[in-house]
Amino acid sequence: MDNAKIKEILNSLTLEQKASLCSGADFWHTKKIDGKDIPVIMMSDGPHGLRKMYESSTNPNNSIEAVCFPAACALACSYDKELLNELGKALGNECQSEGVAVLLGPGANIKRSPLCGRNFEYFSEDPYLASQMAASYIKGVQSMGVGVSLKHFAANNQESRRLSVSARIDERTLREIYLSAFEYAVKEAKPQTIMCSYNKINGEYSSQNKRLLTDILRDEWGFDGMVVSDWGAVDDRVKGVKAGLDLEMPASMGKNDKRIVDAVKSGELDEKDLDRVAERVLRLIYTGDENRQYAAKWDKDKDRELARKIESQCIVLLKNDKKLLPLKSDKKIAFIGEFAAKPRFQGGGSSHINVTQVLSAVDAAKDYSQDITYAQGYRTDKDESDKALLNEAVKVAEESDIAVIFAGLPDSFESEGYDRKHMRMPDCQLELIDKITEVNKNTVIVLHNGAPIEMPFADKAKAIVECYLGGEMIGGAQCDILFGKVNPSGKLPETFPKKLSDNPSYLNFPGEGDVVDYSEGIFVGYRYYEKKQMPVLFPFGHGLSYTDFEYSNITLSAEEIGQKDILTVTVTVKNTGKYDGKETVELYVRDTHSSVARPEKELKGFEKVFLKAGESKRVVFKLDWRAFAYFNTSINDWYVEYGQFDILVGASSQDIRQSACVYVESDNVIPMKFTLDSLGGEVLSFPEGRKIFGDVLSRVNLGFDSNQTGENAELAMQSMFNDMPLHAMVSFVNDESITRELLYKMVDDLNKAALEYAKK
Ligand code: BGC
Repeated sequence: MDNAKIKEILNSLTLEQKASLCSGADFWHTKKIDGKDIPVIMMSDGPHGLRKMYESSTNPNNSIEAVCFPAACALACSYDKELLNELGKALGNECQSEGVAVLLGPGANIKRSPLCGRNFEYFSEDPYLASQMAASYIKGVQSMGVGVSLKHFAANNQESRRLSVSARIDERTLREIYLSAFEYAVKEAKPQTIMCSYNKINGEYSSQNKRLLTDILRDEWGFDGMVVSDWGAVDDRVKGVKAGLDLEMPASMGKNDKRIVDAVKSGELDEKDLDRVAERVLRLIYTGDENRQYAAKWDKDKDRELARKIESQCIVLLKNDKKLLPLKSDKKIAFIGEFAAKPRFQGGGSSHINVTQVLSAVDAAKDYSQDITYAQGYRTDKDESDKALLNEAVKVAEESDIAVIFAGLPDSFESEGYDRKHMRMPDCQLELIDKITEVNKNTVIVLHNGAPIEMPFADKAKAIVECYLGGEMIGGAQCDILFGKVNPSGKLPETFPKKLSDNPSYLNFPGEGDVVDYSEGIFVGYRYYEKKQMPVLFPFGHGLSYTDFEYSNITLSAEEIGQKDILTVTVTVKNTGKYDGKETVELYVRDTHSSVARPEKELKGFEKVFLKAGESKRVVFKLDWRAFAYFNTSINDWYVEYGQFDILVGASSQDIRQSACVYVESDNVIPMKFTLDSLGGEVLSFPEGRKIFGDVLSRVNLGFDSNQTGENAELAMQSMFNDMPLHAMVSFVNDESITRELLYKMVDDLNKAALEYAKK
C-alpha cells in the first residue's frame, strides 16, 4: 500500500486508536481497531524454526510441530551465504503456509563471553561474519514475502540481569564490534523490523534510546522499517515513542496505550511523534497482509532433508590425527554416550521448536554399517558418573577398533534466561572420555554444545568433531560426516580458548550490580588472543577437511586505493588431496602502522568454494574502503589513516597462506586539535607548529645536566621536551613574556592553522 493511503488511514484514527495500535493484542498479534478494517498480522519465533503458537492456545510454548534447523552457532560454521539464504527461503515458506507475517530473528549479537547462555542463538565473536550470515538469512526469508525481526538491538551479550543491566561501552567499541553486524544487515538486507534489546546501553534502555533507535538506526543507516520491543522490554512507553520505538510487544493490557493518550493530552508527548510510530506499525501490517500467499504449502520431509544438508555443511572437524576419520564401515565401531541415541540439537527458551522426529546418530548409522555397538555411558540428568553405565561403555570401547563418544552440554547447562557459570563439560562425561581414551587409542569425540567448552581431553582424543546444536537431523549429518559421505567443511566462528580465564571479558562478566563494563574494548575474541599472543585451543576460522588445499598466487588489482575505489584480491586455491571438498577461504586485513590501537588483523572477506580432487579455482574478493577503516570518535565517523595494509588470505586466523600489501588513502582528514596539554613533540611534528612554537621550544631549559654528552645528550634533551606539555613552557622557558595567556593565544593560532591545513 502506498504511503498516501497509509497516511489517509492514519488520519482517520482517533488519538486512542492510534495509541492502541502501538502495542500487541496478545503474545503474537497486532491489535484490531473497532470500527476499522485494519488487518491483523502474526509474528512468531524464530530464528531456526517456526515456533508458532496454536491459535487455540494461550501458552507460547504450545507451538505447532515444526522443523528444527541448526541454531545460529552452527549455521555460522558453514561460512556459506547461499546456504543461509536457502534456509531463509525455507523458513519464509513455512511462515507463509502458517500465516506468519514476521519471523522473530535472526540474532546478530556478538559473542562477548563463552558464558552467555544465549550464544547458541548468535553467529559469531566477529562482526563481519555475523553481518554476512544475518544479511543472507534476512534476504532469504524476506524474498518469500515474510518480514524478519533482526534482534536484539543492541549489546545484549549476556543473560544475567538481561532486563536491566547497563552495558557500559565506549563509542568506538560500540560501533566497531557491537553495532556493525546490525549496520551491515540493515543497509544490505533491509529487514522489515528490528527488535530492540532488553538491556540499557550506557545507562539508557534500548527501548527508549533515541540515539540508538533514531539517530543511528534511521538517520545514519537509513532504516525505514519498524522497531518492535523485545517481549516486555518497555520501561517508559512515552519516552519510547519519542525515541522511535514503534510497537510494544506483547501487550501491556492497555496500560501503556493509556499512558500515551494521557501524555499527548497533557502536552508531554507531541501527537506527531505518536503519528510517526503508528504510521510505521500500519505500514508493517499492510505489508504483511498484502504479501500473504494463501496458497503456500510447506513440505516437512523436504525441510527435514534441508536441515540435514545444512548441518552437514556446518559440522567442524577440529582434529583428525592419522586421518582416523572418515570411519571405514568394515571396522568394529562403538557409538558411546547418551547423545548418540538422544542428541542435544537445540537450545532452551524462546527459540525452542516443537519437534516430533529427531534423527539420532545411532539410527542414522544403520544406513552405513550394521555393526555398531551402542553404550549409553553417562546420564544427562546428573553430573556424577553412573558406574554401571561407565563400566559397560569402557568394556564396549575396549572391544572395538574405534570408539566414537557423543558428548557435550546437557540442556540445563545453557539456555536463554541464564548464563553458564563455567566452561566445563559434566564430570561424568569427562570421566567417561578419560577412561575410554585409556583403553582405546582410536577415540573420536563428537560434540554437542551451543558455545565453547574446555577440552581437557584434546590431546588424548585422536579426532574431535564439533557439531554445535545441529537441529533435528543432527544424527544424519553426523553420520554423513563420520562415514565420509560428506567431506567436512565447517570452520569455527569463534575462538575456543584453553580456559575460561583466558577470555577477555573474564574480569568483567556478567558485571557488578546493574552495570557491566566492556573494558576489553574492541579486543573481543581473536582480536584479543592474537594481540596478547595467547595460545588458544582452537583458533577462530579453524576447521579441517578430509582433503588438503593449497593456496597460491595472490594478486591485488592496485598497489594503492582511495576512498571510492574497490580493491580486488584474487588467490588460487587447489584441492591437492584425494576427496572432493569445500574450502572456506578467509581474508583478513592488518593495519601495519596505526596511531590508534588496532587488532592484529580483522576478517573482511570469506568465500566458500567447491573443488573436485585435483581441481583449482581463482577465488575473488572485493574490498571497499570500509574494510580498512576504524571508527574515529573525534569525527564520529569511519576513518582510514593513510598507510600500508596487509592483505592476509588463509585457511584460518592462525593459518595464513598468502599475503600482499596495499596503500590506502582517506578523503577524510582529521584536523589536529591542540591544547595546552599537547606535547612539544606533537606540535613540532606539524609544519605550522614548528613555525609558531619552534622558537619557544628551542629555548626550553630543564635546569639539569644529563650525564650524556654530544649527540646522546642532545637526543636526551629532545625526548624530554618532546614529552613536555605546552603549559610547562611558563616554567621552563626563561623569559617573562612567555605567559599562560600568550600560550593560549599561540595554541589558538595553531588550531586555526591546523583547520586550514585539513581543508587543503
Ligand atoms: C526473547 C526474544 C523473543 C521473544 C518472543 C524474548 O524473551 O528475548 O528473542 O523473540 O521473547 O518470544
